[in-house]
Amino acid sequence: MNMLPPEFTPCFSTVLPDATPLCLAIIGDQHLVTPDATLPDLAALAALGTPEVDVLIGHLGATPCRLIAWPEGTAAPDGLVIEGLRALYGRLGDDAFWISARARQLLAWLRDHRHCGRCGTATAVAEHEAAAICPTCAHRMYPRVSPAMMVLIRRGRELLLARSPHFKPGVYSALAGFVEPGETLEACVHRETMEEVGVTITDLRWFASQSWPFPHSLMLAFHADYVDGGIVPQEGEIEDARWFDIDALPELPARSSIARRLIDDAITELRG
Ligand SMILES: [Zn+2]
Repeated sequence: MNMLPPEFTPCFSTVLPDATPLCLAIIGDQHLVTPDATLPDLAALAALGTPEVDVLIGHLGATPCRLIAWPEGTAAPDGLVIEGLRALYGRLGDDAFWISARARQLLAWLRDHRHCGRCGTATAVAEHEAAAICPTCAHRMYPRVSPAMMVLIRRGRELLLARSPHFKPGVYSALAGFVEPGETLEACVHRETMEEVGVTITDLRWFASQSWPFPHSLMLAFHADYVDGGIVPQEGEIEDARWFDIDALPELPARSSIARRLIDDAITELRG
């Protein structure tokens, strides 16, 4: 499951409930967990002193979920360790991982909006809404989600896969890119495809979306069919791009990623 659990209801409040919470505890941008990768109890965090942030960010069933954060450099208390969120993928339970991902995005937003971007005054966080409000000019700043498209292009039994210079060596994936202000998602898919590999495509088919908290993306994935053009990898962005037969694929992204689910979906369809 690559999403917040269905029984999770998001909310945002600076008013903390009395009930025992699920604790999403963060020092700097590292997550505090037990050595066997479970979320810490509230009592285990007592030694850390007054947190920088302590807010309610939703409920898992009836259990309140609290984002509690301390500044970088704070020492982890006895019995807990700090780990990056990426490293916790597949080790922290699914529910805990995706609620942690939400916590991390909200924390990044809170830290990035301590002052008003218009007039510079220190902001105040609304009591029951994820909004940082400027007391001087009333400007309101909400958490940002950045849409990014992903597209897997096919030509007969072949898939167009590419690698960017920051991928693990040998790994190829579907194309991806951020939506520009003013642009539709569909236009973005066509534009990015042309920019990254120089081919034209048709018949975009919706696949699925996935939140990606590094730092605040929402991946929106499509299948598409090739029309025309020879592959010309975009300099600086695409290290290599090729057509791969579904029976001779390179190393692919991790099974948990939406890219891999998209590729597996195409393979199943083409083999079926
Ligand atoms: Zn202001």
